[in-house]
Amino acid sequence: MSKFNTISPIIALLLLLCSLFLSGPVAAQEEQNTAAAYVIQPGDTLSKIAARFNLDIDQLSNANGITNPNQLFVGEVLVLPGVDWFSGTLDVVAVPVGETFRSLRRRYQLEGAVIGRTGGVINPSQLYAGYPLLMPTDVGEDLNLARAAVSSGESLLNIAARTGTNPWEIAGANQLAGVWVTIRGDVLLLPGTNQPGPGALPSPISLEVSHGNFVQGRTTVLTLSAGGVPLELSGEFIGHQLHFHQVGADYVALQGVHAMTEPRPYLLVLNGKTGEGVEFQFSQMVLVEDGGYGTEKLTVDQAYLDLEVNNAESAFVEQLTAPVTPEKLWEGYFVKPTPFDVYFTAVFGTRRTYTGSDYTNFHGGVDFGGADGEVICAANGRVVFAGPLEIRGNATIIDHGWGIYTGYFHQSEIFVQAGDEVQEGQIIGRIGNTGRSTGAHLHWEVWAGGVQVEPYYDWLLTQFP
Ligand SMILES: [Zn+2]
Repeated sequence: MSKFNTISPIIALLLLLCSLFLSGPVAAQEEQNTAAAYVIQPGDTLSKIAARFNLDIDQLSNANGITNPNQLFVGEVLVLPGVDWFSGTLDVVAVPVGETFRSLRRRYQLEGAVIGRTGGVINPSQLYAGYPLLMPTDVGEDLNLARAAVSSGESLLNIAARTGTNPWEIAGANQLAGVWVTIRGDVLLLPGTNQPGPGALPSPISLEVSHGNFVQGRTTVLTLSAGGVPLELSGEFIGHQLHFHQVGADYVALQGVHAMTEPRPYLLVLNGKTGEGVEFQFSQMVLVEDGGYGTEKLTVDQAYLDLEVNNAESAFVEQLTAPVTPEKLWEGYFVKPTPFDVYFTAVFGTRRTYTGSDYTNFHGGVDFGGADGEVICAANGRVVFAGPLEIRGNATIIDHGWGIYTGYFHQSEIFVQAGDEVQEGQIIGRIGNTGRSTGAHLHWEVWAGGVQVEPYYDWLLTQFP
């Protein structure tokens, strides 16, 4: 228990007065005027730059000695005459995962309005991960500060006591109106400390997303590096709960993005609690990118497409692949589920229309076609279903732990039963033409976090986590 918890109201008032008094000299320092400058970006023209900063073209040309406006060089620095609301050099920075509007403001010590002016951002929620934002290039070393989360009911004095820092300096560094202002879930910079640079998560926690982004139909790895701090974590992304598993000092969640998700920013939410009981919340808009899938028209008898049967069976498979087994049963790459060099007769993600319907369906797996042969278990796991389904035919579904499942469909024979432990490489059935299939082939699916994902690039050619 810290001594600040029992601080008397009189002392608190004196501290407030001190903090108000201290704010004078800081404001005076900010009036030092350094010129504003801008790094020329691809696609820029002089008139675009002038419009962006609300400048006169002639004034901009003269200040930079430009005689030919058609000769602008990307990467060159232009002085911005008359720009007095900012000083320093602005360059385009893609908003990293793990930074929010508030954390960026603090990192670059900018007023929110400046971010709006430089980035064309009207609303903080527009600042999704990957957003190209104009930011100062010169961030001082002194901004590589440690960060502390504001737990529920915590005051700045509590935080200062807990982190061994000074409440007034915290208020100053975080542009808080005073030491009485804290918001639950906020993360504050801690002046006088030095740790891996700012972000929107408390030190030493940092967030990384595989390939820095989320893509339709692909498996995303979210890694929270915790630096040895024990964490309790939960999270949510596009209606799916994120399940984190401890790997050494890190916490890892695998989550598929549905192949039909509209490409745009979505909210990523993480909630955590450290072993010491400090809670933190993190939310950021992150962009889901287009997976680049093709389209195909299939001509099928309408009677053959029984929507009710299809929906009921999909719901059944979805419910089978929803539980998250905490142990990770697989190791390294998955192996190809057929022994011979079969070719894909259909790839994952292709949008399909049946006799003129909308492209609302997609191919949820890969098809290995062309021949009869053995069906091979792709990775160690436990069989959760083995039996006939109307559309998928003879089906085997295997749980590999951490919410990862594989499905083997249209088999002629099944050699395993629900509950069996199976090994990578084990022969578990034979390729067939059962269910709604128009020729012997293996339809193979991989599920991650309750979503069908691309099995080939992601699971045969990529090692997870
Ligand atoms: Zn298929």
